[in-house]
Amino acid sequence: MDNTALQQLPEQIQAHVADMLAVATSARQFAQHASRQVGAAVLTQSETGGTHLYKGANWKLIPGETPHRYCAERVAALAALSDGTFEDIVAVLVLSNMRPDRDYDGLVKMCDECVDFFQTGFKHPHIVWIITIDADTQQTRVMKFSDLIA
Ligand SMILES: [Zn+2]
Repeated sequence: MDNTALQQLPEQIQAHVADMLAVATSARQFAQHASRQVGAAVLTQSETGGTHLYKGANWKLIPGETPHRYCAERVAALAALSDGTFEDIVAVLVLSNMRPDRDYDGLVKMCDECVDFFQTGFKHPHIVWIITIDADTQQTRVMKFSDLIA
């Protein structure tokens, strides 16, 4: 992990990054995609301060002419949704190998579909932190979701 980038995070999020990375790493081993293996972790925090981690792996199905792509971060967010805690999401960590056609500047990027999904779903996008980590180089990027859509 690139600890310099992580210092941008509020302390209460920083405290969970190691656990988030462990969860994303464990989910990533189940990813089903030929060129990209992604694991994600979603951190929720309730009004009373209780936290929970949800994990997701990416999956690509090609049943016919149209592939179905399920990004790891969306899978993790939908797991939170299924627990009734989607609105409590405060951080999303994405662990992935690079894809030259999608990523640039040596940094893993969230895809447009996920940005749309979270933009529609998040009631408070300015409080959600996005952490992306390149699984090969450990290059880390930290940003607020609201900066991603600005
Ligand atoms: Zn995506």
